[in-house]
Formats: sequence, C-alpha cells, structure tokens
Amino acid sequence: MSYQGPDLDPAAPRRRRRPLTVAVAALLPGALLGWLVYDAVGAPDEDHAPPRAAASSPAATSRTASAAPQPQPPGEGDEKPSPTPTGASSLKGKVVVIDPGHNPGNFRHTAEINRKVDIGTGRKECDTTGTSTDDGYTEAKFTLDVAHRLRTLLQQQGATVRLTHNADRPYGPCIDERARIGNEARADAVVSIHADGSGTGNRGFHVILPAAVHQGAADTRPIVGPSRDLGERIAGTFVRVTGSAPSNYVGDGTGLVTREDLGGLNLSTVPKVFIECGNMRDSKDAALLTSDAWRQKAARGISEGIVSFLRG
Ligand code: ZN
Repeated sequence: MSYQGPDLDPAAPRRRRRPLTVAVAALLPGALLGWLVYDAVGAPDEDHAPPRAAASSPAATSRTASAAPQPQPPGEGDEKPSPTPTGASSLKGKVVVIDPGHNPGNFRHTAEINRKVDIGTGRKECDTTGTSTDDGYTEAKFTLDVAHRLRTLLQQQGATVRLTHNADRPYGPCIDERARIGNEARADAVVSIHADGSGTGNRGFHVILPAAVHQGAADTRPIVGPSRDLGERIAGTFVRVTGSAPSNYVGDGTGLVTREDLGGLNLSTVPKVFIECGNMRDSKDAALLTSDAWRQKAARGISEGIVSFLRG
C-alpha cells in the first residue's frame, strides 16, 4: 500500500499530496527483542513513506518464550501456546476477516476506484491499483495469494475466515466497505494484507496500527488497544517465522507504525491492523515476495500472531 493513496499504493510512484501524521509506537512486543540492529532511521521514501515515524525503545518482556511451540497431549488443544498445521479446533467460534489489499481488476476501473469515500478524517479514493515489482508481479496478486494461504492456516485452527474479496468482483471493495465487512462479521480480528511500493534499498515489513481517531464516522478509540496487541503479536511472529527484518525506512526498527489516514482502520469497530509484508520495489525484498515458499512463511507468521491474539 502507499502512504498517500487510499489504503494502498499506486501502481506507479506519485507524489504525496499532504503530510501524514504518524504517531509514536509506544510499546514493543517482547517477541521483537533479539532482532538484529537494522538501519532503522533511513530516510523515508518520499513517495510512499510517512514524513516521520517514531517508536519507543524495546521493552523487555518474556512473550517470546511464552509463544514458543510446546508439545501438548491430545485433548488439550485449547491450551496450546502456538498453532500447528494440524492443531485442534481451538479457534472454533472465532471469526477472522482477511482483507487482501487492492484487487487485480482495479486498473480496469479507474473511474470507479477513484471515487472518493468518507473515512472520518477526510475523503479518500475508494481503492487503488496497488504497486508491483519491477518485473510486474502485482501487489493485488500477492495479497490474494497470501490471503489464501492465511485462510487455510486459520481454518486448520478452527477459525471461521472471511475474505473481503476474492477477485470475484470487478474492482474494490472500496476502503469503507472493506472496514464494514469486518464490522458486520463481528470479527475477532481483521488483517489487511499489503506490500509496499517504496524506494530501492528500503526493506523489511511493518505492521500498521490504528491511531485513536474520533472524527465523523470514525471512532477507533475502543479498538486502539486490542489492535496494538494484535499488531505486536503479528510483528513478533512474522519476524520469527520469516526471518525478515522490520522496516528500515519507517517505524524506527520496531516494525510498527501508527496511522490515522487509512480508511480501512479509521472505520473499523473491531481489532484490525495492516501489514506491509515487504517492499516490492526493492529487488531483494521482491525476490522474497515472489517466492512461493516465502509467501507461505509470511502467511504462517501472520497466522501465528492472529492465533496468539485470539487465544489471549
Ligand atoms: Zn497496498
């Protein structure tokens, strides 16, 4: 996704129209401890990255250890600290909505997706085309692939999973509808899947958390806390499973960024985060994003964070 478009990134670089506000990420999950020290303060790409992104220093916790997989005797699946592909239906009754960013058909419907919708703090395009690798692998294709893998993993845990779309519509949904789908499903967790379109050399993933917004149709105050918990867990498990580093261009190395300009977050009434799995415009990140094996790891990293959140 991009930092100036609707909830996404444009297919081609374009200029940000106005500064964005990125709040401080106040806490770091323990699972993030042990990360190598990456170049956390690289200059943000001027087309996609927020003008500023800050985060606190890591706080020591033991969540990493507590999240480690441990063998469990049969019949105690509900207590398992970490999911396995063949895990018991410990998430029975839980609803997860997966939002694959963009839509492969968006580029054929520019008039429709450029229509403005209300996101509480303003108006933004209904949707955007998303970015792509230099070789033409599109973000929309990437997000759907990861969404399918993630759906399978969560269903194996017993969760009820819904996608906001499955390329089964000509374009969209619009960002406000994407939020509404999660709300109306009364989802226990929603994750919007994206990959960024930043400059070469900008690498790594980041999870985007909703800022506290109370304006117009947006009131994120009840979901800020649980969404942060969800996002921190996903960041931690994503690091552990994929081995990818947190972004070296936003988030000060935490892998966490808080934003108030995303309709998909502003309009959500249920815990929700975005994840930018990597930067499609960097050749090294692109090599990962285009790998089937890596996308499976990405899906597993996200899945394990969601499962951890849902089990509490
Ligand atoms: Zn995107």
